[in-house]
Amino acid sequence: MVKISSNFDSGNIEVIEAGSPSNIRLNIRKDNNSDFYQWFHFRLTGAKGQLCAMTIENAAGAAYVDGWPGYQACASYDRQEWFRVSTVYHDGELTIQHIPDSDSIYYAYFAPYSMERHHDLISQAAEDDKVKMHVIGETLDGQDIDLLTIGDMAVGKKVIWVIARQHPGETMAEWCVEGFLERLLDEDDALSRQLLEKAVFYVVPNMNPDGSRRGHLRTNACGANLNREWEDPSLERSPEVFYVRGKMDETGVDLVLDCHGDEALPYNFIACFEGNADVDPAQLDLAYDYQRHLMQANPDFQMEQGYPKGEPGSANMTVGTNQLAHRYNAVSMTLEMPFKDTIDSPNSHTGWSPERSNKLGRAQLDALAGIIDRL
Ligand SMILES: [Zn+2]
Repeated sequence: MVKISSNFDSGNIEVIEAGSPSNIRLNIRKDNNSDFYQWFHFRLTGAKGQLCAMTIENAAGAAYVDGWPGYQACASYDRQEWFRVSTVYHDGELTIQHIPDSDSIYYAYFAPYSMERHHDLISQAAEDDKVKMHVIGETLDGQDIDLLTIGDMAVGKKVIWVIARQHPGETMAEWCVEGFLERLLDEDDALSRQLLEKAVFYVVPNMNPDGSRRGHLRTNACGANLNREWEDPSLERSPEVFYVRGKMDETGVDLVLDCHGDEALPYNFIACFEGNADVDPAQLDLAYDYQRHLMQANPDFQMEQGYPKGEPGSANMTVGTNQLAHRYNAVSMTLEMPFKDTIDSPNSHTGWSPERSNKLGRAQLDALAGIIDRL
């Protein structure tokens, strides 16, 4: 008996019909109080050795329809190792075709990063003598908003902020921060030790715990897109941004990296704040230099492809990167990683993956070392 289920951390699917493995019909559920949807995560049981065709009927109405052509769904038997499976987008429907080797298999838009793993990450980091852990507030669902502070503040030290998963379905962002933290806390890594002499780090590995647990693509519990809340955050609608921006006001910011995933573009790239009316060319040059160092440290990153650069004055100041560049005259950057794969350096078995996101997170420290003395 074939069964589809999704009533678990970050699960998202609605079953229309699952009588026959060769014709399983599904819909992705919308984020609560929102029209956004694209994240899916479900379990298929009882289908070992059978050819399964799982069709997402409402794929054409998803937030980023350009995300489907060329996309291959992620699958895992043990929820540790994720691989890609044959996926076709045709006539507005997305069909995953696969013969599972086990009676229990998970499929997801990208390798999930569960709230349980988030708690492990925070707890392990907090055990390190260099780390202070603060709960800076609560989400609307009552989850903790966790901030890690690494290193001691001292006169002359730079202030570096790293935040991830404003958009909860972009799980590669937290895989990336995990790599960043692992390297930063590695006593045997000389570059990390040197950076900690020069800077203090504030890291929010998950900006949106509620959206993460609910299986949302883009919004928090009440349907707010947190990356449109940075100009005027409120406790009622966007406490996650309200508390983090409040903390930033206390610490100041020299450089901030906001980690995301992009549904459509098969590239790693960084978006900056060219569209700000008060754009500081010196800070922008540092952001570009950071990217050149990043490209050298990890060739999965590139600078040719990305979002169009806005004319000064055209920026949406509710977006984190723009607002933070303006508010603190900081080097402010949005890192985008692909849901698909890097088209210039693909891995057909995994596509873009947790492991590659982790390594790109580690390489951020090389990039930072390249510019830190000029911040
Ligand atoms: Zn995003």
